[in-house]
Amino acid sequence: MSKSRPFPAVTGGCFCGLVRYRLETAPLFCHACHCADCHKSSGSVFACFATIEADRVTSIGSMPPKFATTVRRDGVARHNAFCPKCGTQLWGNGDWSPATIDIRVGSLDIPGLMEPDLHEFIESKVDWVILPEGAKTCKGGYEIKDYWPKSSLKRLDAAMSRYEERLKLSKAAASGAGEDEDEKEADKTPTAQSPEEKEDDEEFEKRYQVTEKALQERLEKLSLKLNEQEVA
Ligand SMILES: [Zn+2]
Ligand SMILES: [Zn+2]
Repeated sequence: MSKSRPFPAVTGGCFCGLVRYRLETAPLFCHACHCADCHKSSGSVFACFATIEADRVTSIGSMPPKFATTVRRDGVARHNAFCPKCGTQLWGNGDWSPATIDIRVGSLDIPGLMEPDLHEFIESKVDWVILPEGAKTCKGGYEIKDYWPKSSLKRLDAAMSRYEERLKLSKAAASGAGEDEDEKEADKTPTAQSPEEKEDDEEFEKRYQVTEKALQERLEKLSLKLNEQEVA
């Protein structure tokens, strides 16, 4: 077990609280999508996703989510996790790899922790949504190799290897004995974090602490204002 520093508790869940989850590492990338499919499926004017390795998200609620499959305009099927009681959409399977999922940022307990690294399908953005100055945008979808940090691309490779190993193991288990060689090989597969991943976590932790401080300051200002009103 690697002795990496504890990752800050980034948690999220559905509206009614039945389905809860915790992120075990910093997301790989965060993007907002302004496409027509996201308008419909989110019921809002854009969707915001934090992409993360599927095996780095832990379910901590009293019930796992249910899944609904939708087929996008381009024919790609998406499996969307939602709460069986209140219907809140929580995440969908990643577009680029079966080893990742796209968390819906609004389902995080502190959504402001994530800010989109990129806004895609900018051509169908509604006019009154004004993006921050300097925000990265693209027409249509995007290629991860053009926008993801190198450390995230490396983590994606590692996640794919783990995914393939798990697939191999479950196939071996299903077909019974006689797969000893494969299992021994799988045991040796390194899954420890690379130094880059740790750096990424630390960077995220820094960003998290800055946000927390800003929130704290905002709260203090608000209570000062309230006190002043009471005195007046
Ligand atoms: Zn719920
Ligand atoms: Zn979209």
